[in-house]
Amino acid sequence: MSFEFQTTCEYQKYFTPSHDMVRKSAREFVKKEVLPYIDEWEEAGEFPVEMYKKAADLGFLGLGYPEEYGGIPADIFYRIAVSEELMRTGSGGFCAGLGSLNIAIPPILSMGTDEQKKRFVAPVLAGEKIAALGITEPGGGSDVANIRTTAVRDGDHYVVNGSKTFITSGCRADQLTCAVRTGGEGAHGVSLLVIEADSPGYSVSDRLKKTGWWASDTAEIYFDNCRVPVENLLGRENEGFYGIMANFQYERLMLAVMANMTARLALEESLRYARERKAFGKTLMGFQVTRHKLAEMATLVEAGTEFTYRVAAKIGAGEDQIKEVSMAKNFACMVSDKVTYDAVQIFGGYGFMRGYLVERLFRDNRVLSIGGGTTEIMNEIISKFL
Ligand SMILES: Cc1cc2nc3c(=O)[nH]c(=O)nc-3n(C[C@H](O)[C@H](O)[C@H](O)COP(=O)(O)OP(=O)(O)OC[C@H]3O[C@@H](n4cnc5c(N)ncnc54)[C@H](O)[C@@H]3O)c2cc1C
Repeated sequence: MSFEFQTTCEYQKYFTPSHDMVRKSAREFVKKEVLPYIDEWEEAGEFPVEMYKKAADLGFLGLGYPEEYGGIPADIFYRIAVSEELMRTGSGGFCAGLGSLNIAIPPILSMGTDEQKKRFVAPVLAGEKIAALGITEPGGGSDVANIRTTAVRDGDHYVVNGSKTFITSGCRADQLTCAVRTGGEGAHGVSLLVIEADSPGYSVSDRLKKTGWWASDTAEIYFDNCRVPVENLLGRENEGFYGIMANFQYERLMLAVMANMTARLALEESLRYARERKAFGKTLMGFQVTRHKLAEMATLVEAGTEFTYRVAAKIGAGEDQIKEVSMAKNFACMVSDKVTYDAVQIFGGYGFMRGYLVERLFRDNRVLSIGGGTTEIMNEIISKFL
């Protein structure tokens, strides 16, 4: 089949015909269920909640998760193939919103009991409940060890006070995998609680208005003496920080995949436009400056994609890639920053107009070097390994 995925990177080294079948079904889902409506959902600031069930029924939400909780065991490249195809919606917001479970569920799987996994993982993989991750607070996101939201034990409940912000799927989430302070200052005082949205004292802001990712709802969440049963604690008290850090690896890899696809889509759009659009009696492709710009864009996209795949393969093989995944995220974001900027330039005034894909890619791209750990935090991590 044709993948519209013209690439010189070693595609066959990472993806088998079986990955391609899943890719094809994700592509059909996008074509039929998302593309006809995505502009409307972007303007509305959300997509219908039924999309979680539709995606779950096709197996996209459960990919790579344990069978006993409704998942489908699959290697990392199945998830990458699906993410790449979902990015073909041209809406980072749709992908982030539909995919919020992928940052909320892993700590439950790695730290939770069987009972907690049955309660908090199975319904999410089935598309029946929506999960979000709550780490960032109004006072800061990078300095995770310094979070201020407190959880104080009161009998068989924790009483939670504080707030979280910028939470993807925050308005619609049924449950929040939430970082709270149960102990003293620093990383050793942080725990993870699953807080259900119907808990007393839990409330949510209106959707936050953003530069990009319009189709994903992003919220601030408030806890006012919010009572959470003790049985919702993941792992042991004050050991949540390690679960949060482990979770970042996968998130950063998938953000790199999103950045590479953002750049690839911008490149594809630019190539098409440069062949059609005429100025001074020839197509834009007729100008060497445009051809060279496209050549540089293509080179960066190939290099970013290949490096991300290499890191993914090593993560899939169980190798520690903390430094490399930070490099992959930063490199992919550097590529998508440049490529989306150049794409808008090639489109001229149209590139600045709503309704043109490159305009949305340019806006959606900006968050990729902020979310999941900023460029500067990635560089801090990388520099520790040098
Ligand atoms: C659309 C969107 C969706 C998000 N979704 C979620 C979500 O679902 N769940 C969640 O928990 N969070 C989410 N976030 C939050 C995101 O993870 C944080 O924005 C990010 O971690 C940065 O934190 P901050 O915004 O508080 O910036 P700050 O931590 O205040 O940083 C501000 C600036 O200072 C720099 N800086 C900070 N510390 C250092 C340092 N040590 N060295 C050098 N520079 C430094 C940063 O790089 C940045 O440039 C989302 C954010 C956005 C915008």
